[in-house]
Amino acid sequence: EPQLRRDEEFWFEDGSIVLAARDVEFRVYKRVLADHSIVFADMFTFPQPASQATAVSESCPNVCLDDSPEDLRHVLRALFPRKGATFIPLELQEPTFDLISAYARLGHKYQIDDLLDQSLAWLKKQFTSNFDGWCEQPTFPFDNQSHYAIGIVNFARLTQCHSILPTAMMVSCYNGGEPLVRGFRRQDGTQERLSEDDLILCIEGKNALTQATATCVLSAFTPWDDRLHPSCTRGMHHLLHLYRTDPELVAGVHPFSPPDCYLHSAFLEDVSICSQCLTHLRRRLRTEQVKLWNRLPDVLGL
Ligand SMILES: [Zn+2]
Repeated sequence: EPQLRRDEEFWFEDGSIVLAARDVEFRVYKRVLADHSIVFADMFTFPQPASQATAVSESCPNVCLDDSPEDLRHVLRALFPRKGATFIPLELQEPTFDLISAYARLGHKYQIDDLLDQSLAWLKKQFTSNFDGWCEQPTFPFDNQSHYAIGIVNFARLTQCHSILPTAMMVSCYNGGEPLVRGFRRQDGTQERLSEDDLILCIEGKNALTQATATCVLSAFTPWDDRLHPSCTRGMHHLLHLYRTDPELVAGVHPFSPPDCYLHSAFLEDVSICSQCLTHLRRRLRTEQVKLWNRLPDVLGL
């Protein structure tokens, strides 16, 4: 039995409930928890007999939860703002993965609808099913760190939030072998990893995305197009030849790279394609990407 310690942040002396998460005890207020969560409300209405023995007093029962203290602390910070809390953020700050993950999982488990719904809304905006919305994001969510997408796939499965699954699965496919198989360490020390079925989808998905990228690029940059000037068609052949220096562009797992990745100045220095034909090529690449975007769930076997 681990030695229990009181949480430094959440121990209200006149609190009416003690929540034990692993080796940390939190003393907070029943009424507020019950207000936010029907699961807590039910728990307090029908107290578990097993927990009575460790009660601080009759007026302050003790409940053992199987959550981590880190997750629980994130949720309690939302429900019981302390002195020094930020009420009006001056700068828009992206939530961290740990915060979203705690809100979403515990929000789902305890039916704290506001936490769950708002984390879902944020995730739906970030892992959007809208092509333009996806392209407008300068990086993918959580500081471009693709391993976090593994956690989002798991969360999408848990809550059956299907709309975030294609992009979350695609970003998971960006991971190398090790994070894909072993996952990553969460803030509470536990390991977050893909289910075996999703790992299989990701391994297949890497392949599928590579093929899709090649199809996109080769279809967009086809020389059989009357709308290209003949001299610019020669320039385009030259351009395709230059791509051998960056194979990731043609055969990588990033089919939705912005057109400028394919038509950036370093390539165009040695290649002569007029601006009118460049605009046409950009548009054609986008058209191919949209076609692929609409098929993405199929491509990823979802
Ligand atoms: Zn031209």
